[in-house]
Amino acid sequence: MEVTFWGVRGSIPAPGPGTVRYGGNTACVSVRTRHGKLLVLDCGTGARSLGLSLLADGATDGFATGRGEAAILLSHTHWDHIQGFPFFSPLYVAGNAFQIYGPAQSSALLEGILEGQMAPQYFPVQTLKNMGARIEITAVRAGVPFDVLGCTVTAVTNPHGRVGAMAFRIDDADRSVVYASDAGYGPGGPSREAAALYHGADLLIHDSTYTPEDRARYPGRGLASVTEAVSAAIHAGARRVALFHYDQDYTDADIDMMVERGRRGIAMTAGYVEPEVVAASEGLTLQV
Ligand SMILES: [Zn+2]
Repeated sequence: MEVTFWGVRGSIPAPGPGTVRYGGNTACVSVRTRHGKLLVLDCGTGARSLGLSLLADGATDGFATGRGEAAILLSHTHWDHIQGFPFFSPLYVAGNAFQIYGPAQSSALLEGILEGQMAPQYFPVQTLKNMGARIEITAVRAGVPFDVLGCTVTAVTNPHGRVGAMAFRIDDADRSVVYASDAGYGPGGPSREAAALYHGADLLIHDSTYTPEDRARYPGRGLASVTEAVSAAIHAGARRVALFHYDQDYTDADIDMMVERGRRGIAMTAGYVEPEVVAASEGLTLQV
């Protein structure tokens, strides 16, 4: 699998001179399966650049000519995970097909939530039905594996505000990628179900919004610290952990320091295999 980060920021885009290295766009990650299929994890503002790349000259997926197909997995529908959706250009090319999966009581409710931000008061396109591509929307049930473009996907709901946020595990033959954004664990860390989902992942992409101090300062925000991210990876036996969903107020230098603290945390945890700690940034591609 090939994983590319298009947006690594949490909560709200944070463009400016202080964030150019890690990037200011909100959550969006693409996963290319071993058969070359495309899965998109969240549609924060990073989805705009992903969309442009899929329509660029020389792109071979067929999205420019209406023959493209992809799945979009939404962890939840807070703004930083859906605001890039109306600006994801391949959705406007007739003939393209998108399967959208996310948490909701029913598929109709999830569709209604996504329709909400398309309403004319928010966006001139007015409805998903005007976008051109074929869009199929499916509510995901936690704990029930389902097939997506040749992969098996399993979801678990992590604590995050009133609605929670889904973490997804994508198993593609013998390789696995886990995406755990917005993970506001209690003091005991990940739930038993979440720990099982993360277990043995080749790559764990994990919420790393805060330093431990800021995490303690904002316990009600439902977001993880860098030490919680690294600790989750160590206990899961994950081979690699990609830190992401950084706080909007952190500069590149702040994130450098936070990542360094995450790496130092490993040395103090005896008896476990060390995961490689990667700091996600816009444009970074990892082979899994
Ligand atoms: Zn978020």
